[in-house]
This record gives sequence, C-alpha cells and structure tokens, in this order.
Amino acid sequence: MGNKNTSSNWMMATVYGGLAMAAINPIAGAITAFACYQVHKKLKAEEDVERERNRQQNQQEFNEKFYARQHYASYEDYLMSDAWQEKRAAIFKRAFGKCEKPECNRALSEVHHIWYPKTWGDEPVSALIGLCREHHEAEHKPRF
Ligand SMILES: [Zn+2]
Ligand SMILES: [Zn+2]
Repeated sequence: MGNKNTSSNWMMATVYGGLAMAAINPIAGAITAFACYQVHKKLKAEEDVERERNRQQNQQEFNEKFYARQHYASYEDYLMSDAWQEKRAAIFKRAFGKCEKPECNRALSEVHHIWYPKTWGDEPVSALIGLCREHHEAEHKPRF
C-alpha cells in the first residue's frame, strides 16, 4: 500500500513537473508525460494481475462448493440422496417394474450397480440393472 501511494505521489509530481516543463520546453514536457504514462501503465498491469488472481480464486471456491453438492462422502450418503432416488426411479420405469434378467418374471425390487463409478452419482443408467431380490442376492454371492 505504501508502494502504491509512493507511486501515485511520484506520478502527480511528474504530471505537474511535466506541465511546468512543457511551458518552458515542450520536448522535456513530452518526455516527462511519457514517463508518467509508463508508470500509469505499470500500475494498471499490476491491478490486472491482482484482479485475475482474485477471479481464479473465486472460481476455485465455486468449484469446490459445487463439487461438494454433487458428490457424496460415502456410498451410504449417496443412497440417501435425491439424485439416487431419481436414478432408481428411472430404472424402475425402464424395466416396467420387472426384473431385468432375461426370462425372469419376478417384480423388480432392487437396483444393482453393474460397475461402480469413481465418484458416486457419476454412473450412467447403463451401469445399473433392476433385479428381483433373488437375482440381486445371486449377484452379490461370492463366485468360486
Ligand atoms: Zn447390487
Ligand atoms: Zn430376477
């Protein structure tokens, strides 16, 4: 802050100095005015850098908040979310309420992950299958 005041005081001095000099010697006045312009340009460039740094920081904070809203700490948290309820409802609709295993006529009761996403909530509906309880249990049984 002291730096900026010094710069701006110095700039005012060069402006008045430039005006006074211009009255006596137009060339010296023009040189001083040019020096003044250079200082002004430098201060403006510093301001732009600071503004850009603030902009990037705000963007990062926004991204972090957004990320926290869209993603979940654990699988359990995800299963409690509206996002999961919506996805689950989409599978029930797709499967007409029936188990999606071929030739199974039992009612769909559970939605199973065929594969798990890196981040909960990022899986497409193609990663999910609607199953009856029996078929779901079979999916989770260890295979030998
Ligand atoms: Zn499952
Ligand atoms: Zn089934």
